[in-house]
Amino acid sequence: MFDSSLSLATPLLAESGINDSYRFATFSWVEVLVDCPGAQGLFTYALPPDLTVQPGDILTVPFGAQQVGAIAIHLLAQLPPDLPPTQVREVEEVVSTGFFPATYWTLLNQVADYYCTSLMAVIRVALPPGLLGRSQRRVRLIELKALGGLDPSELSSVAQQVLSRLQAQKQGSYTWQYLQQKISGADRGLRELLKQGWIESYLEPPATVRPKLRQAVTLVAASHLEGSLSPRQQEIIQALQREGGDLWLSDLLQLCRTSSGTVQTLAKKGCIVIQPREILRAEAGVAIAPDQPKDLTPDQAQALATITSLSGFAQVLLHGVTGSGKTEVYLQAIAPVLQHGQSALVLVPEIGLTPQLTDRFRARFGSKVCVYHSALSEGERYDTWRQMLSGSPQVVIGTRSAVFAPLPQLGLIILDEEHDSSFKQDQPAPCYHARTVAQWRAELVNCPLILGSATPSIETWVSAKAKQDVNPPAPHYLSLPSRVRSRPLPPIEVVDMRQEFQQGNRTIFSRALQVALERLRERGQQGILFIHRRGHSTFVSCRSCGYVVDCPNCDVSLSYHHTHAEATQLLRCHYCNHTAIHPPQCPECSSPYLKFFGSGTQRVTQELAKHLPDLRCLRFDSDTTRTKGSHRALLTQFAQGDADLLVGTQMLTKGIDLPQVTLVGVIAADGLLHLPDFRASERAFQTLTQVAGRAGRGDEPGQVIIQTYSPEHFVVEAVQRHEYEPFVSAELLQRQTLRFPPHNRLVLLKFSSPDPLAVQKTAKRIAAVLAPQQAESGYELLGPAPASILRVARRYRWQVLLKLPLDRAVELPDWNELRSLCPPNVSMTVDVDPLNLL
Ligand code: ADP
Ligand code: ZN
Ligand code: ZN
Repeated sequence: MFDSSLSLATPLLAESGINDSYRFATFSWVEVLVDCPGAQGLFTYALPPDLTVQPGDILTVPFGAQQVGAIAIHLLAQLPPDLPPTQVREVEEVVSTGFFPATYWTLLNQVADYYCTSLMAVIRVALPPGLLGRSQRRVRLIELKALGGLDPSELSSVAQQVLSRLQAQKQGSYTWQYLQQKISGADRGLRELLKQGWIESYLEPPATVRPKLRQAVTLVAASHLEGSLSPRQQEIIQALQREGGDLWLSDLLQLCRTSSGTVQTLAKKGCIVIQPREILRAEAGVAIAPDQPKDLTPDQAQALATITSLSGFAQVLLHGVTGSGKTEVYLQAIAPVLQHGQSALVLVPEIGLTPQLTDRFRARFGSKVCVYHSALSEGERYDTWRQMLSGSPQVVIGTRSAVFAPLPQLGLIILDEEHDSSFKQDQPAPCYHARTVAQWRAELVNCPLILGSATPSIETWVSAKAKQDVNPPAPHYLSLPSRVRSRPLPPIEVVDMRQEFQQGNRTIFSRALQVALERLRERGQQGILFIHRRGHSTFVSCRSCGYVVDCPNCDVSLSYHHTHAEATQLLRCHYCNHTAIHPPQCPECSSPYLKFFGSGTQRVTQELAKHLPDLRCLRFDSDTTRTKGSHRALLTQFAQGDADLLVGTQMLTKGIDLPQVTLVGVIAADGLLHLPDFRASERAFQTLTQVAGRAGRGDEPGQVIIQTYSPEHFVVEAVQRHEYEPFVSAELLQRQTLRFPPHNRLVLLKFSSPDPLAVQKTAKRIAAVLAPQQAESGYELLGPAPASILRVARRYRWQVLLKLPLDRAVELPDWNELRSLCPPNVSMTVDVDPLNLL
């Protein structure tokens, strides 16, 4: 009944892992990183005598004419000889302290080095948002009684104006910005008041990243006063005793139906203490029935035995087919870690999409589970961060950036669906891969790392199959080759859509799929339909002249989206989200016959309504799951049997474990097969295998139907036969011929600019600088070339690709030097090990 977070509400920042020796020496200067775009390297500031700073603290410092956020890196006892003390400005404030655990700096530096970016850029992704840069500078009057003897008439008139504004305000405080807006020349007045000691300036972080406080009542001593207490007061003391001596004030008032005056009286008598305590904001969990560890299958048991026998850093590839029970292995691998007082970090592709997975962890570990991802509010992320720093044993489940979760006692890292491309950040810098960072992190803290997948990335597969005597050690290969309870993998039928068309079928559903869908309803079973695109159709084109409606900002066509709310028909760009009203006639030739081509999720649901009106469908894509909690709501609806069919995109392929789903249909595999990217086949294989794996996870056998215009494609054949290894061998051969990873490494230089000529010129110039260095440095240069979609969101994009051999050391270019060759309107991003070449 009462808030259980009370027990958590103790000071959280004790163990930050910052070197203790700093506390005893005297340091007068500090080197900081400043949070200001373009500011490179460390800057030195003086420490005012009354300010205690430790490495890792978040500070504010004057920088040029601004006040900016900064992070203390080193403390200095002496100034470098080339830096005269008069040139050194003072640190203004300490905003937050103790935000980084031990070994953390090494990790951040490693990320910055490898991904060719600044340490500050890495810190920006690692820290919860809102801590840097966005704090507000405020000023307040120094306590009025301290002002005796100061005569305001000595002040300049603008200083007097500022002063009287502040005096008129109840708390005597305003933001610097507000005063600047209200009084012209306020800066000068403010500085004068600061200098003369009328006011002080301080920094207030945004409300969301301040600890949230609540009044708590603690019983101290009551027995000595027992006789002198009124019955009302005794009642309060007894209530506190019953509840273990600690209650939130609001709960106590409610429980005893009393006023805060009565409680205050008890505080004055010394029986109780009323204190503000921090409470932690966390995403509201859903009540979950607890569960028990399952009896493992022999394969699971063997995998778990290997994992628990590991000590120190080691990598494991857990290659288990869909439904083989990988999650159960994770859960049982985590349990002993928690028992040893350590924490586990579980990284998943997109947490919002997998409420089921979090539920399974909560069912096993209860309140020890916390989630960390970008859909949390700033306050929630801030509090979760502090909760993680506390060092109590916990399980953090998070997306990509949670690889930086500041867990001081990390005992195990798990990367589920390790092949998933959302673990890689495309932009902005650092373009890091959470799997790579997780490897370094596991190595630094000396704990095991488990990579789990039904369709491991080719990189991971190759390294797990490689010789074991490499450094860092290659992953142990553990396999779960069959589903739990001897459930078979579902048979996969491939339908040639060309034949369907020849035989007169004009719908988007093959006859086999139609039969299967009809049977679903009859049998009361459920199905999933996968389609590559959301929206209604992929493009809108004129039947008379062939005109295609394009996005004005990007080189792609607009997709048609049907809206029920408005009577309008909308066209939307899937790259920049530009929307336009569907034109009534062709803008080119005025023909009224504008037709939709290709199909998206909306079109599929509409066609279903036409052909199979009895079937109840739910659409599951980024259009229908925009609001927080909508994934869970839709999946719950489906799991409860409120619909027969879930129609969706990529999201469907991830982590959905619904035993009643027997049918999986893929409307058109072709959208996946023919992308101009050397990883297209690998992704298509993964997506098709994962989506097929949603079928037949319960007692009823599953069935999968894949529709395609290329049934003979080697990916389709491999998926149909559930053959991972032969697929990988074929793919590896192709990559070898084309010399692509994993046979080598890539570095992609991405240039973009609103000016098409400037970006082209810059890309050419930089390629010309790099080209002559190829032989000597060891890399091979490709390009420059325009990106395959030249223009996105009004920016033109060019690329230069570097291929690096694996068998010899490569000297990478000096990125800062190259950047200095870019004019101000051209930006350059270095993407190391890029996943997306489009
Ligand atoms: P994967 O993550 O490999 O796709 P899951 O962990 O989702 O597989 O397991 C599939 C289903 O089998 C889940 O419903 C899970 O609860 C169940 N399961 C896993 N291990 C066992 C086991 N040892 N005994 C019984 N059921 C199990
Ligand atoms: Zn036309
Ligand atoms: Zn666009």
